Order: sequence, then structure tokens, then C-alpha cells
Amino acid sequence: MDIVAEQVVIVGSGPAGWTAAIYAARANLQPLVFEGAVTEENRLQGTMPLGQLALTTEVENYPGFPAGDLSEFLRTSLPAEEHWLIDLHQKAGCSGPELMHLMRRQAANFGTRIVTDDIAEVDFDSQPFKLRSLGGEETAAHCVILATGARANYLSLESEERFKNNGVSACAVCDGALPRFRDQPLVVVGGGDSAVEEADYLSKFASKVYMIHRRDQLRASKIMAQRAHDNPKIEIVWNHTVDEVLGNDADGVTGVRLRSTVDNSTRELVATGFFLAIGHTPNTAFLDDKLELTEKKYVKWTVPFRTNTSVEGVFAAGDVADDYYRQAVTAAGSGCMAALDAERWLAAKGL
Ligand code: NAP
Repeated sequence: MDIVAEQVVIVGSGPAGWTAAIYAARANLQPLVFEGAVTEENRLQGTMPLGQLALTTEVENYPGFPAGDLSEFLRTSLPAEEHWLIDLHQKAGCSGPELMHLMRRQAANFGTRIVTDDIAEVDFDSQPFKLRSLGGEETAAHCVILATGARANYLSLESEERFKNNGVSACAVCDGALPRFRDQPLVVVGGGDSAVEEADYLSKFASKVYMIHRRDQLRASKIMAQRAHDNPKIEIVWNHTVDEVLGNDADGVTGVRLRSTVDNSTRELVATGFFLAIGHTPNTAFLDDKLELTEKKYVKWTVPFRTNTSVEGVFAAGDVADDYYRQAVTAAGSGCMAALDAERWLAAKGL
């Protein structure tokens, strides 16, 4: 028996996925979201439902959610006759997990159906497309929005895992301004453009930033490398790898133990923050050979300023196709674009 095809299936549950779902649901497309599976493997590699934002603490750069007491902000920004709005916003700021649960709730409120499983396999060869979940469920869909995101690369040290959200972070822009990093020495691992950018950004808050690089030359572009050299707060520690993140449960990260790649000697540095900038890996393993990926395995957007992919009827949104901006708000924006692209594509096909 043939299964009835969904109009839109959305794979992934970060800001891109939920925004696509909100727009698709409001366009009466009855979207079905595969939000990802809750498995130990996904936990370890940072690919649990709700995406990377759910792995951060405070979110201070998502418009509409300033950190602080929202009711106080509203009291000072609203004219008296609009103070009734304050009751709608009792809370202070917003954390990453809270923001993601709110997006999920918003999508569900408009009728989005949600399956808590990964998509393990896709068949884009003919219409309707076919998707198979990790649990073996088969779904047919006329249109698919890929929003599985990317995951930050970590060194895979046990100590690094232990202090995640307690001094270990892979996103300086997300976490750098937190009080625990202010006027403190911090460590950034990596020697590429991201590492310089993160170190430079962190130097606004930190007393000092150590960039730990495993070679004697940066991979970063010349202009970025110069920025690192010119910044008096950045010290590049050449030819060293990280053996261990040091710390305790009460204080979180307190330092790092480094190992020289030249003579194998070890040394310790005091630091309250440990930032990884050793690249990202897009969550596209299930898409290999199914549509066009970039050299770095990101889904390739094939039309400028659109979310089209190389397969007609398959759209991509958020970090799975974007290795450049990688922000919650840009992911949400492209999720909206993908839903609008999908809606128009379905209408043009009469589906
Ligand atoms: P990247 O260029 O691949 O650099 C990754 C860095 O991490 C390299 O220095 C690498 O060392 C190091 N690394 C990788 N694995 C490691 C490990 N296991 N242990 C220790 N070190 C490790 O990645 P990226 O810096 O994220 O940049 C990605 C892309 O975005 C690049 O094309 C970059 O130009 C672009 N980007 C541009 C800007 C900008 O222009 N403002 C900012 C950010 C990113 P090795 O050098 O020894 O390989």
C-alpha cells in the first residue's frame, strides 16, 4: 500500500527548522518535523533535538530577548497607556534552551506534528521523496526542508566534556560576555580565521587570551593573522596541543595542561574559559550522494538569495548550508525563506 505523501517534511529542530515549521504551518502545509533522536550518540556529538542553541546558556544577541529584566525594560520603553504589555513579559532574558522550547511550542501551536527521531536515509530520486527514520519509519513527502545544522568540533577529551557550559564553549560570540570570563585569562584552541576572530572578540572582555596552536604558523588569512599579532591581549602559544582541561565542579574551568609538539614537555596555564575554534562539521552524513554538497560537506544553495538545493523540491536552511554566519537569527531567517520557497514551489507544481 502506498503511503500518503506529506506536503512538507522538515528535518532538524534548531532555529531554522522551527521557523520553517511556523511559516509552513501558518500556510496550511501541515508540516511534519523530524526533530532528531534522543540517543547517547547524539548527546556525545552535540546533535540532540533543539540544536546547538540548546547547548548554550544565556542568549543575548537574539532580537527581542535582551538579557535582564524584561518587565523593567518595557516599563522604561513603553508609554504608560501600553504598560499592560508588561504582564505578557514577566521573565528576565532568555536562555538558549528556553528559546528553543519556545520556538518548538510556537510551531506546535500552529499544528506542526513532531516526531522525535533522526532521518537516517533519504531517497530524492523520484516524487514523492522518501525518508526513513532511525526507528525504521517510512515517510513520503513532496517537499523537504533540510535544517539539521552543524556541530562544533571538539577535541574529544573527557575533561572537556565535563566542563561544557561551565567554562568550555565552542562559541565565543554566544558565551564570551558571560561574567565568568570578564577580566580573566581565557584559552582559544585553533589557528584558523575562526580562532583569531574568537580570540579577538574575547579580548574585549578577557584580561588575556592565549591562542593554542599545534603548529608554528597560523592557518588564518594574512589579515586575520596580523590582527592576532597586533592585539596586545592575545598571546599565541605555538606548537602546543591540549592534554587536559583543568577545573573542579564548583569553579568549572580553572586552566589547561598543554603539551609541546616539539619536545613533548608539558606546562599549565591558568584560565577560566576554554574556547574551541577548530572547525565545524555539518550534519549531512545521511545526505552523501543524495544532493550536491560543498567541498566541506555543507548542503549547497544553488540559487543566489534562495534556499534551493540541487534537487528540485528540496530546500535547505540554517547552518547545514551556511558555514559563514552561523547565528541563531540568520538560521531562523533562512528557515522562514525555506518555508516560503517550499510554499511557492508546491503551489507552482499544483501539489
Ligand atoms: P579552519 O580554517 O579549518 O581552521 C581550523 C584550525 O583548527 C586550524 O588551525 C587547525 O590546525 C586547527 N585544528 C583542527 N583540528 C584540530 C585539532 N584536533 N587539534 C588542534 N587544532 C586543530 O576552520 P575555521 O577557522 O573555522 O574557518 C573555517 C572557514 O571559515 C575558513 O574558510 C575561514 O577562512 C572562514 N572564516 C573566515 C572568517 C573571516 O574572514 N572573518 C572568520 C571565520 C571563519 P592546522 O592549521 O594545524 O590544520
